[in-house]
Amino acid sequence: MGTQPIPASNAKTPLPPGMVLGPDGKPCKICTAFRNWKPAASKGSTPAQAAGAASIAALAAQRDKHTRPEYCPPDVEQLGRATWTFLHTTAAYYPDKPTVYQRAQMLSLLRALPTLYPCSHCATHLGQEMKTSPPDVSGRVALSRWLCQQHNLVNERLGKDQFDCAKTDERWKDGPSD
Ligand code: FAD
Repeated sequence: MGTQPIPASNAKTPLPPGMVLGPDGKPCKICTAFRNWKPAASKGSTPAQAAGAASIAALAAQRDKHTRPEYCPPDVEQLGRATWTFLHTTAAYYPDKPTVYQRAQMLSLLRALPTLYPCSHCATHLGQEMKTSPPDVSGRVALSRWLCQQHNLVNERLGKDQFDCAKTDERWKDGPSD
């Protein structure tokens, strides 16, 4: 945990573009989009890199070019979508006036992510952002907004569109009005 992604260009052995190394120096599947799970060149690899590359190659051999089969472990994108769904939905149903206990539990949940989130470079970024902008667990609206802003920071980093935080309830609680 707590590492920045090691881009392929900085790795000892050239890796496919988009492949990210984990803290153990092996290709990190959970830090990488499935479409970038390609076998690395074995020449000059350390045994750890070769082992990682072999397991990735086995998975890659079974895949459609861009589609992650259902039986494959999650990639950084599926994990991200599932996590955002959980977090935004949990915030949408958080009380308007949480008890002291509920606030403490929510803080624990969010503060655990920079330590436990399996994509290490995602976790590191989140931890840095949480130091600058600590979670606002004072109520449902504030928490939803804080999460929306955190998600938008990731969107920005990934070159994606910004989400309109005024539409958080529509997206995660109420649905579109007919
Ligand atoms: P997602 O970004 O997963 O969004 C899911 C849905 O949420 C969207 O369809 C949209 O309807 C809604 N939405 C979008 N933005 C917002 C918002 N601001 N507020 C409310 N709802 C919104 N991936 C990386 O490659 N590198 C990283 O460093 C990285 N860091 C991450 C950190 C965290 C804490 C998490 C949870 C995920 C991270 N991810 C990272 C994954 C990334 O954010 C996406 O989940 C992934 O790229 C899939 O994107 P997506 O376009 O399918 O939609």
